[in-house]
Amino acid sequence: MKDDARRIAIAGAGIAGLTTALLLARYGFSVEIFEKAPALSEVGAGIQISPNAARVLSALDLDTALDATAVRPREVTMRSGRDNGVIARVPLGDRLAARQGAPYRVIHRADLQAVLLSAVRASDAITLHLGAPILESRTSGEHVALRTARVTTRAGVLIGADGVWSALRRQIGGPAASPTGQTAWRTLVPAEDGSAATQVDLWLARDAHVVCYPVSAGRLTNIVAVTADRSTDIDTEAATALPEAPFRGLCGELRTLLARAESWTRWPLCGVSPDAPWTKGRIALVGDAAHAMLPFVAQGGAMAIEDAAELAAALASEGAEPAALATYERRRKPRVDPVWREARRLAWVYHLPRPASLARDAALRALGPDRLMARMDPIYGWRASALPT
Ligand SMILES: Cc1cc2nc3c(=O)[nH]c(=O)nc-3n(C[C@H](O)[C@H](O)[C@H](O)COP(=O)(O)OP(=O)(O)OC[C@H]3O[C@@H](n4cnc5c(N)ncnc54)[C@H](O)[C@@H]3O)c2cc1C
Repeated sequence: MKDDARRIAIAGAGIAGLTTALLLARYGFSVEIFEKAPALSEVGAGIQISPNAARVLSALDLDTALDATAVRPREVTMRSGRDNGVIARVPLGDRLAARQGAPYRVIHRADLQAVLLSAVRASDAITLHLGAPILESRTSGEHVALRTARVTTRAGVLIGADGVWSALRRQIGGPAASPTGQTAWRTLVPAEDGSAATQVDLWLARDAHVVCYPVSAGRLTNIVAVTADRSTDIDTEAATALPEAPFRGLCGELRTLLARAESWTRWPLCGVSPDAPWTKGRIALVGDAAHAMLPFVAQGGAMAIEDAAELAAALASEGAEPAALATYERRRKPRVDPVWREARRLAWVYHLPRPASLARDAALRALGPDRLMARMDPIYGWRASALPT
Protein backbone atom coordinates (compact mmCIF):
# COMPACT_ATOMS: atom_id res chain seq x y z
CA MET A 1 0.00 0.00 0.00
CA LYS A 2 1.48 3.36 -1.06
CA ASP A 3 0.51 5.07 2.21
CA ASP A 4 2.72 2.75 4.25
CA ALA A 5 5.79 4.31 2.63
CA ARG A 6 5.07 7.58 4.51
CA ARG A 7 4.21 5.92 7.84
CA ILE A 8 6.82 5.05 10.43
CA ALA A 9 6.27 3.24 13.74
CA ILE A 10 8.66 3.72 16.67
CA ALA A 11 8.87 1.53 19.80
CA GLY A 12 10.03 3.63 22.76
CA ALA A 13 9.72 7.30 23.71
CA GLY A 14 13.15 7.95 25.24
CA ILE A 15 15.66 10.42 23.80
CA ALA A 16 16.15 8.21 20.72
CA GLY A 17 12.46 7.63 19.96
CA LEU A 18 11.30 11.20 20.52
CA THR A 19 14.16 12.75 18.51
CA THR A 20 13.70 10.30 15.64
CA ALA A 21 9.97 11.08 15.55
CA LEU A 22 10.57 14.84 15.45
CA LEU A 23 13.09 14.57 12.61
CA LEU A 24 10.88 12.23 10.58
CA ALA A 25 7.91 14.56 11.00
CA ARG A 26 10.06 17.40 9.62
CA TYR A 27 10.72 15.27 6.54
CA GLY A 28 6.98 14.80 6.01
CA PHE A 29 6.52 11.31 7.46
CA SER A 30 3.57 10.37 9.62
CA VAL A 31 4.86 8.80 12.86
CA GLU A 32 3.30 6.66 15.57
CA ILE A 33 5.29 6.16 18.79
CA PHE A 34 4.42 3.14 20.96
CA GLU A 35 5.74 3.52 24.52
CA LYS A 36 5.53 0.74 27.04
CA ALA A 37 5.29 3.00 30.11
CA PRO A 38 1.81 4.34 30.96
CA ALA A 39 3.29 7.79 31.68
CA LEU A 40 6.57 9.35 30.67
CA SER A 41 8.79 10.13 33.61
CA GLU A 42 12.54 10.46 33.97
CA VAL A 43 14.32 9.57 37.17
CA GLY A 44 16.04 12.49 38.80
CA ALA A 45 19.39 12.81 37.12
CA GLY A 46 21.21 15.03 34.68
CA ILE A 47 22.62 14.50 31.22
CA GLN A 48 25.40 16.26 29.33
CA ILE A 49 24.52 17.19 25.75
CA SER A 50 27.64 17.77 23.68
CA PRO A 51 27.88 19.93 20.51
CA ASN A 52 27.51 16.97 18.09
CA ALA A 53 24.04 16.32 19.51
CA ALA A 54 23.28 20.01 20.09
CA ARG A 55 23.50 20.63 16.31
CA VAL A 56 20.70 18.13 15.71
CA LEU A 57 18.49 19.58 18.45
CA SER A 58 19.16 23.03 17.04
CA ALA A 59 17.87 21.91 13.61
CA LEU A 60 14.64 21.03 15.44
CA ASP A 61 14.48 24.65 16.75
CA LEU A 62 14.80 23.52 20.36
CA ASP A 63 17.62 25.87 21.45
CA THR A 64 15.44 28.40 23.24
CA ALA A 65 13.45 25.74 25.06
CA LEU A 66 16.63 23.91 26.11
CA ASP A 67 18.35 27.08 27.29
CA ALA A 68 15.42 27.89 29.60
CA THR A 69 16.70 25.27 32.07
CA ALA A 70 20.04 23.95 30.78
CA VAL A 71 23.36 25.26 32.04
CA ARG A 72 26.32 25.87 29.72
CA PRO A 73 29.30 24.92 31.92
CA ARG A 74 32.56 26.77 31.45
CA GLU A 75 34.89 23.74 31.82
CA VAL A 76 35.41 20.22 33.09
CA THR A 77 37.63 20.35 36.17
CA MET A 78 39.35 16.99 36.69
CA ARG A 79 40.47 16.42 40.27
CA SER A 80 42.20 13.80 42.32
CA GLY A 81 39.76 12.00 44.59
CA ARG A 82 42.56 11.59 47.16
CA ASP A 83 43.52 15.23 47.71
CA ASN A 84 41.12 17.30 45.56
CA GLY A 85 44.08 18.64 43.58
CA VAL A 86 43.30 19.80 40.05
CA ILE A 87 44.64 17.34 37.48
CA ALA A 88 43.42 19.12 34.35
CA ARG A 89 40.91 21.63 33.02
CA VAL A 90 39.07 21.01 29.75
CA PRO A 91 37.44 24.16 28.34
CA LEU A 92 33.72 24.03 27.49
CA GLY A 93 31.58 27.22 27.51
CA ASP A 94 32.22 29.95 24.96
CA ARG A 95 35.57 28.53 23.84
CA LEU A 96 34.16 25.15 22.89
CA ALA A 97 31.00 26.69 21.42
CA ALA A 98 33.14 28.95 19.19
CA ARG A 99 35.28 25.98 18.13
CA GLN A 100 32.33 23.69 17.38
CA GLY A 101 29.64 26.18 16.37
CA ALA A 102 27.32 24.58 18.93
CA PRO A 103 27.11 24.65 22.74
CA TYR A 104 27.83 22.08 25.45
CA ARG A 105 24.87 21.88 27.84
CA VAL A 106 24.07 20.05 31.05
CA ILE A 107 20.38 19.54 31.74
CA HIS A 108 17.98 17.66 34.01
CA ARG A 109 16.69 14.60 32.10
CA ALA A 110 13.12 15.53 32.94
CA ASP A 111 13.68 18.99 31.38
CA LEU A 112 15.16 17.48 28.20
CA GLN A 113 12.28 15.02 27.99
CA ALA A 114 9.76 17.85 28.55
CA VAL A 115 11.29 19.85 25.68
CA LEU A 116 11.19 16.87 23.29
CA LEU A 117 7.71 15.82 24.43
CA SER A 118 6.22 19.26 24.02
CA ALA A 119 7.59 19.41 20.44
CA VAL A 120 6.15 15.94 19.77
CA ARG A 121 2.75 17.00 21.13
CA ALA A 122 2.82 20.15 19.00
CA SER A 123 3.31 18.11 15.81
CA ASP A 124 0.21 16.99 13.89
CA ALA A 125 2.34 14.33 12.20
CA ILE A 126 3.16 12.41 15.41
CA THR A 127 0.84 10.24 17.53
CA LEU A 128 2.14 9.06 20.89
CA HIS A 129 0.56 5.95 22.44
CA LEU A 130 1.41 5.46 26.12
CA GLY A 131 1.06 2.15 27.94
CA ALA A 132 1.38 0.52 24.53
CA PRO A 133 4.19 -2.03 24.17
CA ILE A 134 4.20 -3.66 20.75
CA LEU A 135 2.98 -7.22 21.33
CA GLU A 136 3.57 -8.47 17.81
CA SER A 137 5.15 -7.19 14.61
CA ARG A 138 5.26 -8.98 11.29
CA THR A 139 6.91 -7.94 8.06
CA SER A 140 5.03 -8.85 4.94
CA GLY A 141 5.81 -7.47 1.49
CA GLU A 142 5.89 -3.70 1.64
CA HIS A 143 5.02 -3.05 5.26
CA VAL A 144 5.28 -4.07 8.91
CA ALA A 145 2.00 -4.98 10.64
CA LEU A 146 1.92 -4.16 14.37
CA ARG A 147 -0.33 -5.02 17.24
CA THR A 148 -0.55 -3.53 20.73
CA ALA A 149 -3.27 -4.33 23.30
CA ARG A 150 -5.47 -1.59 21.82
CA VAL A 151 -4.13 -0.71 18.37
CA THR A 152 -3.52 -2.65 15.17
CA THR A 153 -1.68 -0.70 12.51
CA ARG A 154 0.94 -0.91 9.78
CA ALA A 155 3.96 1.12 8.72
CA GLY A 156 6.70 1.11 6.12
CA VAL A 157 9.36 0.74 8.78
CA LEU A 158 9.48 -0.10 12.51
CA ILE A 159 12.18 1.61 14.58
CA GLY A 160 13.32 -0.01 17.82
CA ALA A 161 14.15 2.83 20.23
CA ASP A 162 13.29 0.60 23.17
CA GLY A 163 16.47 1.04 25.18
CA VAL A 164 19.12 -1.24 26.63
CA TRP A 165 16.66 -4.10 27.30
CA SER A 166 15.27 -3.85 23.74
CA ALA A 167 12.75 -6.54 22.78
CA LEU A 168 13.18 -5.61 19.10
CA ARG A 169 16.93 -6.24 19.30
CA ARG A 170 16.20 -9.77 20.42
CA GLN A 171 13.53 -10.11 17.71
CA ILE A 172 16.09 -9.37 15.00
CA GLY A 173 18.55 -11.84 16.53
CA GLY A 174 20.71 -9.40 18.49
CA PRO A 175 22.48 -10.08 21.79
CA ALA A 176 21.19 -9.53 25.32
CA ALA A 177 22.69 -6.57 27.21
CA SER A 178 25.54 -7.61 29.46
CA PRO A 179 26.53 -6.20 32.86
CA THR A 180 29.88 -4.36 32.85
CA GLY A 181 30.74 -4.82 36.53
CA GLN A 182 30.20 -1.16 37.38
CA THR A 183 27.29 0.66 38.95
CA ALA A 184 26.30 4.32 38.62
CA TRP A 185 24.73 5.92 41.71
CA ARG A 186 22.73 9.01 40.84
CA THR A 187 21.19 11.78 42.89
CA LEU A 188 20.14 15.43 42.80
CA VAL A 189 20.63 17.86 45.69
CA PRO A 190 19.67 21.54 46.01
CA ALA A 191 22.52 23.82 44.89
CA GLU A 192 24.44 25.32 47.78
CA ASP A 193 23.48 28.91 48.52
CA GLY A 194 25.48 31.32 46.40
CA SER A 195 27.61 28.58 44.86
CA ALA A 196 26.28 29.02 41.29
CA ALA A 197 28.61 26.31 40.02
CA THR A 198 29.33 26.65 36.32
CA GLN A 199 31.64 23.73 35.79
CA VAL A 200 31.48 19.97 35.50
CA ASP A 201 33.56 18.52 38.37
CA LEU A 202 35.12 15.11 37.88
CA TRP A 203 37.00 13.32 40.68
CA LEU A 204 39.08 10.26 39.79
CA ALA A 205 39.89 7.54 42.31
CA ARG A 206 40.78 3.88 42.49
CA ASP A 207 37.80 1.80 41.31
CA ALA A 208 35.51 4.85 41.48
CA HIS A 209 34.88 8.30 40.05
CA VAL A 210 32.37 11.06 40.72
CA VAL A 211 30.83 13.58 38.29
CA CYS A 212 28.94 16.64 39.52
CA TYR A 213 27.29 19.49 37.61
CA PRO A 214 24.47 22.02 37.91
CA VAL A 215 21.06 21.45 36.28
CA SER A 216 17.63 23.12 36.39
CA ALA A 217 19.02 26.59 35.70
CA GLY A 218 21.54 26.06 38.52
CA ARG A 219 18.94 25.31 41.22
CA LEU A 220 19.96 21.65 41.55
CA THR A 221 23.26 19.80 41.56
CA ASN A 222 23.45 16.45 39.77
CA ILE A 223 25.88 13.93 41.27
CA VAL A 224 26.84 10.61 39.68
CA ALA A 225 29.23 8.24 41.46
CA VAL A 226 30.45 5.19 39.56
CA THR A 227 31.89 2.23 41.48
CA ALA A 228 33.04 -1.29 40.72
CA ASP A 229 30.04 -3.44 41.64
CA ARG A 230 28.89 -6.80 40.36
CA SER A 231 25.23 -6.36 41.33
CA THR A 232 22.61 -6.51 38.56
CA ASP A 233 19.63 -5.37 40.60
CA ILE A 234 18.29 -2.16 38.99
CA ASP A 235 16.70 -0.11 41.72
CA THR A 236 15.72 3.27 40.37
CA GLU A 237 12.79 4.00 42.68
CA ALA A 238 13.57 3.20 46.29
CA ALA A 239 15.92 5.21 48.45
CA THR A 240 19.31 3.54 48.37
CA ALA A 241 22.42 4.26 50.43
CA LEU A 242 25.70 4.92 48.64
CA PRO A 243 28.31 2.30 49.64
CA GLU A 244 31.03 3.79 51.84
CA ALA A 245 33.95 1.53 51.01
CA PRO A 246 34.89 2.96 47.57
CA PHE A 247 35.10 6.50 49.03
CA ARG A 248 36.93 5.73 52.28
CA GLY A 249 40.24 7.58 52.41
CA LEU A 250 39.21 10.10 49.75
CA CYS A 251 39.37 13.86 50.27
CA GLY A 252 37.01 15.69 52.64
CA GLU A 253 35.57 17.90 49.86
CA LEU A 254 34.38 14.83 47.97
CA ARG A 255 32.98 13.07 51.02
CA THR A 256 31.17 16.26 52.09
CA LEU A 257 29.62 16.48 48.62
CA LEU A 258 28.46 12.84 48.69
CA ALA A 259 27.06 13.26 52.22
CA ARG A 260 24.72 16.00 50.96
CA ALA A 261 22.49 13.41 49.28
CA GLU A 262 19.85 11.65 51.37
CA SER A 263 19.17 8.91 48.83
CA TRP A 264 20.56 7.56 45.59
CA THR A 265 19.24 5.56 42.67
CA ARG A 266 21.36 2.67 41.56
CA TRP A 267 22.06 1.83 37.89
CA PRO A 268 24.14 -1.27 37.26
CA LEU A 269 25.82 -0.38 33.96
CA CYS A 270 25.11 -2.68 31.03
CA GLY A 271 26.53 -2.62 27.54
CA VAL A 272 25.45 -3.82 24.12
CA SER A 273 28.23 -4.42 21.61
CA PRO A 274 27.72 -2.35 18.45
CA ASP A 275 28.99 -5.26 16.34
CA ALA A 276 25.69 -7.16 16.04
CA PRO A 277 23.23 -6.19 13.24
CA TRP A 278 21.11 -3.09 13.90
CA THR A 279 18.68 -3.73 11.06
CA LYS A 280 16.75 -6.60 9.59
CA GLY A 281 14.34 -6.13 6.72
CA ARG A 282 12.00 -3.32 7.75
CA ILE A 283 13.19 -3.04 11.38
CA ALA A 284 16.05 -0.78 12.57
CA LEU A 285 17.44 -0.12 16.06
CA VAL A 286 18.56 3.28 17.38
CA GLY A 287 20.17 4.52 20.61
CA ASP A 288 20.74 2.14 23.52
CA ALA A 289 18.72 -0.56 21.75
CA ALA A 290 21.49 -0.72 19.13
CA HIS A 291 24.63 0.05 21.14
CA ALA A 292 24.20 0.89 24.86
CA MET A 293 27.57 2.19 26.04
CA LEU A 294 29.30 3.07 29.29
CA PRO A 295 28.79 6.71 30.37
CA PHE A 296 32.53 7.56 30.55
CA VAL A 297 32.51 9.84 27.49
CA ALA A 298 28.95 11.07 28.19
CA GLN A 299 27.89 10.04 24.69
CA GLY A 300 25.11 7.40 24.92
CA GLY A 301 22.32 9.96 24.55
CA ALA A 302 24.33 11.99 22.03
CA MET A 303 24.83 8.88 19.87
CA ALA A 304 21.07 8.22 20.09
CA ILE A 305 20.42 11.76 18.79
CA GLU A 306 22.99 11.28 16.00
CA ASP A 307 21.35 7.94 15.08
CA ALA A 308 18.02 9.72 14.84
CA ALA A 309 19.47 12.27 12.40
CA GLU A 310 21.11 9.67 10.13
CA LEU A 311 18.15 7.30 10.11
CA ALA A 312 15.70 10.10 9.32
CA ALA A 313 18.00 11.42 6.57
CA ALA A 314 18.30 7.95 4.99
CA LEU A 315 14.53 7.39 5.11
CA ALA A 316 13.91 10.85 3.64
CA SER A 317 16.21 10.27 0.70
CA GLU A 318 15.53 6.57 -0.02
CA GLY A 319 11.98 6.13 1.30
CA ALA A 320 10.73 3.78 4.03
CA GLU A 321 12.48 0.79 2.51
CA PRO A 322 15.01 -1.78 3.78
CA ALA A 323 17.70 -0.15 1.59
CA ALA A 324 17.39 3.08 3.63
CA LEU A 325 17.87 1.13 6.86
CA ALA A 326 20.97 -0.53 5.39
CA THR A 327 22.35 2.92 4.47
CA TYR A 328 21.74 4.08 8.05
CA GLU A 329 23.58 1.09 9.52
CA ARG A 330 26.47 1.45 7.07
CA ARG A 331 26.92 5.14 7.96
CA ARG A 332 26.52 4.79 11.71
CA LYS A 333 28.57 1.78 12.69
CA PRO A 334 31.99 3.28 11.84
CA ARG A 335 30.99 6.36 13.84
CA VAL A 336 29.60 4.64 16.94
CA ASP A 337 32.18 1.87 17.19
CA PRO A 338 35.21 4.02 18.25
CA VAL A 339 33.10 6.08 20.66
CA TRP A 340 31.76 2.88 22.26
CA ARG A 341 35.32 1.54 22.61
CA GLU A 342 36.65 4.84 23.97
CA ALA A 343 33.97 4.73 26.69
CA ARG A 344 35.17 1.25 27.63
CA ARG A 345 38.83 2.34 27.61
CA LEU A 346 38.09 5.31 29.86
CA ALA A 347 36.25 3.00 32.27
CA TRP A 348 39.65 1.47 32.91
CA VAL A 349 41.68 4.72 32.77
CA TYR A 350 39.44 6.65 35.20
CA HIS A 351 39.63 3.97 37.88
CA LEU A 352 43.37 3.19 37.76
CA PRO A 353 45.16 2.44 41.04
CA ARG A 354 48.51 3.98 41.99
CA PRO A 355 51.15 4.23 40.56
CA ALA A 356 49.46 3.99 37.12
CA SER A 357 47.07 6.81 38.10
CA LEU A 358 50.05 9.12 38.74
CA ALA A 359 51.32 8.52 35.20
CA ARG A 360 47.80 9.18 33.87
CA ASP A 361 47.54 12.45 35.82
CA ALA A 362 50.98 13.59 34.64
CA ALA A 363 50.02 12.88 31.02
CA LEU A 364 46.78 14.86 31.38
CA ARG A 365 48.65 17.81 32.98
CA ALA A 366 51.21 17.78 30.19
CA LEU A 367 48.53 17.95 27.52
CA GLY A 368 47.01 21.13 28.98
CA PRO A 369 43.57 22.67 28.33
CA ASP A 370 43.93 23.47 24.61
CA ARG A 371 45.06 20.02 23.57
CA LEU A 372 42.55 18.32 25.86
CA MET A 373 39.82 20.35 24.17
CA ALA A 374 41.16 19.56 20.70
CA ARG A 375 41.25 15.84 21.51
CA MET A 376 37.43 15.87 21.61
CA ASP A 377 37.13 17.21 18.03
CA PRO A 378 36.49 13.78 16.47
CA ILE A 379 33.48 13.31 18.74
CA TYR A 380 32.14 16.86 19.05
CA GLY A 381 32.90 17.87 15.44
CA TRP A 382 30.50 15.30 13.91
CA ARG A 383 27.94 16.56 11.44
CA ALA A 384 24.90 14.74 10.09
CA SER A 385 24.91 13.96 6.38
CA ALA A 386 21.65 15.92 6.21
CA LEU A 387 19.31 17.72 8.58
CA PRO A 388 15.81 18.99 7.84
CA THR A 389 15.60 22.71 7.07
C1 LIG B 1 24.88 7.10 34.75
C2 LIG B 1 24.64 7.46 33.32
C3 LIG B 1 25.03 8.72 32.87
C4 LIG B 1 24.86 9.05 31.54
N1 LIG B 1 25.25 10.29 31.13
C5 LIG B 1 25.12 10.63 29.83
C6 LIG B 1 25.52 11.91 29.37
O1 LIG B 1 25.98 12.74 30.16
N2 LIG B 1 25.37 12.21 28.05
C7 LIG B 1 24.84 11.30 27.16
O2 LIG B 1 24.73 11.62 25.97
N3 LIG B 1 24.44 10.08 27.57
C8 LIG B 1 24.54 9.72 28.87
N4 LIG B 1 24.11 8.51 29.29
C9 LIG B 1 23.50 7.58 28.33
C10 LIG B 1 22.05 7.95 28.03
O3 LIG B 1 21.32 8.12 29.23
C11 LIG B 1 21.39 6.85 27.20
O4 LIG B 1 22.25 6.48 26.16
C12 LIG B 1 20.09 7.35 26.58
O5 LIG B 1 19.20 7.76 27.60
C13 LIG B 1 19.45 6.25 25.74
O6 LIG B 1 18.23 6.71 25.22
P1 LIG B 1 17.27 5.71 24.46
O7 LIG B 1 16.12 6.54 24.02
O8 LIG B 1 18.02 4.92 23.47
O9 LIG B 1 16.80 4.67 25.58
P2 LIG B 1 15.88 4.89 26.86
O10 LIG B 1 16.07 6.24 27.43
O11 LIG B 1 16.13 3.71 27.74
O12 LIG B 1 14.40 4.83 26.29
C14 LIG B 1 13.80 3.62 25.89
C15 LIG B 1 12.30 3.78 25.99
O13 LIG B 1 11.69 2.63 25.42
C16 LIG B 1 10.65 2.19 26.27
N5 LIG B 1 10.45 0.76 26.02
C17 LIG B 1 11.18 -0.28 26.46
N6 LIG B 1 10.71 -1.44 25.97
C18 LIG B 1 9.65 -1.13 25.19
C19 LIG B 1 8.75 -1.89 24.40
N7 LIG B 1 8.85 -3.23 24.32
N8 LIG B 1 7.77 -1.25 23.71
C20 LIG B 1 7.68 0.10 23.79
N9 LIG B 1 8.49 0.88 24.54
C21 LIG B 1 9.48 0.27 25.21
C22 LIG B 1 11.13 2.52 27.66
O14 LIG B 1 10.05 2.61 28.58
C23 LIG B 1 11.80 3.88 27.43
O15 LIG B 1 10.89 4.95 27.52
C24 LIG B 1 24.28 8.14 30.63
C25 LIG B 1 23.86 6.89 31.08
C26 LIG B 1 24.04 6.54 32.42
C27 LIG B 1 23.58 5.20 32.89
